Order: sequence, then structure tokens, then C-alpha cells
Amino acid sequence: MKRLGKYLAAAAILMILAGLFPAAVSAEPWPTKYKGREYRTVYSYSFYTKKYPYVIKKVGSDPAKVLEYFVKCGMYYGQQAKKSFDVKEYYASHKNLRKILGTGYRNYYDYYRQYGRFGDGSEKAKQGIRIYSTTVCIDPGHQRRAMYSREPIGPGSGTYKIKVSSGTYGPWSRLNEYEVVLQIGLKLRDKLQAKGYKVVMTRTKHDVSISNAERARLANAKKADLMVRLHCDGEDYGSSLNGARGMAASRGNRYLKQSVVAGGQRLAGLLATYQAKATGQRRLETLYTNEMTGINWAQMPCAIIEMGYMSNPAEDRRLANSEFQDKIVTGLTNGIFHFVTD
Ligand SMILES: [Zn+2]
Repeated sequence: MKRLGKYLAAAAILMILAGLFPAAVSAEPWPTKYKGREYRTVYSYSFYTKKYPYVIKKVGSDPAKVLEYFVKCGMYYGQQAKKSFDVKEYYASHKNLRKILGTGYRNYYDYYRQYGRFGDGSEKAKQGIRIYSTTVCIDPGHQRRAMYSREPIGPGSGTYKIKVSSGTYGPWSRLNEYEVVLQIGLKLRDKLQAKGYKVVMTRTKHDVSISNAERARLANAKKADLMVRLHCDGEDYGSSLNGARGMAASRGNRYLKQSVVAGGQRLAGLLATYQAKATGQRRLETLYTNEMTGINWAQMPCAIIEMGYMSNPAEDRRLANSEFQDKIVTGLTNGIFHFVTD
């Protein structure tokens, strides 16, 4: 009994230590997260309010308000909000980042907290530079109204296809493919931008008239480094067909450089692989085809990701589920990350 008491006492002390330790690491209990972004590495409430007492006079001492002020105004002015990070000094000593981060301080906090704090020579910093240098074009497939007039399936081609098909429909989610892919596309945009990518959207609403060739030409005009076309499958309604599939141009494509074809194929594989990893879906074999107008016109690696089957009752419901969409977005973001940094 005495022995047991000793163990209990030891366990109690351990639990107290375990409780104290994280507090010691995170330094202070004030919030450091604003709109999903973590500012701990560039911001400390106590340091900031001590250095700039006027902020409290201005917005009050509520830590959430102070953090909001820092994010909205303090960052713009290049204020130092943490002992270990002086953005003005960092800005002055990192002229090499001007090209990707531009002028003004704001981007430097973001780059530093995500990548730069690991050291200039670190793998992370190198990844950060590649990410900030990359423009991703996201093309949420289809639109409210199909376009049945025709266009060449590639530059100079005599083969014509309709400009935009209507896409598939989910009888269980009661959503159209064009709705699901835009929901996911907007989430993907936000996530990629938060990481530092530049993002170009071919559409952000349903009522547009943009042909598949025009979508690719938009990516060309915006000098996108890669293009991700979001789609869902529909085949054999009510069947158990399911899974994520990448699609890309096939070897020997007459409209594209072979390096672009190879890049698109790699991208298609990575998107499906990492989506499946994140969602637990089946990863289906990549489909190679030279019949896709939106791929044939794109001068950069371009892939379609068929994110699942809206013809499958369970998958249709999942594709419309916000948490499941978040998992897809995590997976696609990981796929893009590997495409850009590997
Ligand atoms: Zn589609």
C-alpha cells in the first residue's frame, strides 16, 4: 500500500510537470493564432505591448484585439513583435528575397515564420523560396451552362470538341460537379496562398463562359508553373466505383513539349497519390490521353484530378462534405508541394 502511494505521488508529479512543460515552451498564454495562421514565431503579446504601448491605448488590452491589430497594421509598418525576430533587420539583410516577396514587410513575416526561421541554408528555406516562386493555376471544371459550340482540341488541330461539357451530377448530394469542384477549388486556393504560392483561378463563380482552351490560355497568359484541373467522375450510377484518379497528356502528344508532358504525368500521379493518402480513398491508375483540350493548350505541366465518383452514393456524399473536402485539399496541397520541391 505504501509502495502504491509512492507511485501515485510520482505519477501526480509527472502529470503536473507534463502540464507545466508546454506552458514553459509556448512562453505565454496569450493567443498567437489569427484566422487559422500561427504567429507565435514572430509575435508575443507581452513583448509587443511593451515595445508599442500605444497599441493598448488604441485597441485596449484584449489580447485577441492586440493580435488583430498586429496582423492588420503592425505587420504593414514592420513592427517588431517578438524579441527573436526583427523584420526590418531581416528585410534589410535579405535582398535576395525581393524578387519573390516584393517590397513592404508583410510577406517577410509570413516567409520567415513558415520557412526562413529554420535558417537561410536550410532545406525548409529552399522549399519556401520555391513555393513563393510558384504560380499555380486552379481550374474548377465546368460551369453552370455547358458550351456546345466547338473549338480545336489543341493548337493547330483539325479535331474539334465542344467547348465545355455539362459535367456530372450527384443524385445523393444533389450537387452538380461544377458546384463541388468550385467549393474544393476555393479551399485549395486559400490553403495554397497561406503557404505562399501565387494562385490563379480560371473561375470563382458558376455563371461564366470559359471554354477549356480559354482556361489553358489563361494559365499561359498568367505564366502559371503548373495547372490543376479539378473534376469528379460519374459512371454507372449507383455502383461501387470509387477513388481518386489523375489524368495527363500521353507520350507523343503533338501539341506539347515532351518535358511538359512528363511534368503533367508526374503531377497527375502525385495529386492522386497524396489525395488518396489524406482521404483514405483508393488511388486509381493515372489515365494518359491526348484528347483533353484543356491539357493540350496548356504550356505548363497540367493534370486533371478526378477526385471521386459522384455516381457512388457514399463517395458522392463524402465529396460534398466540408471536412472531407478539407482532407482532399490537404492531399492536393501535399501533392503540389512534392511536385514543386522534390
Ligand atoms: Zn468533369
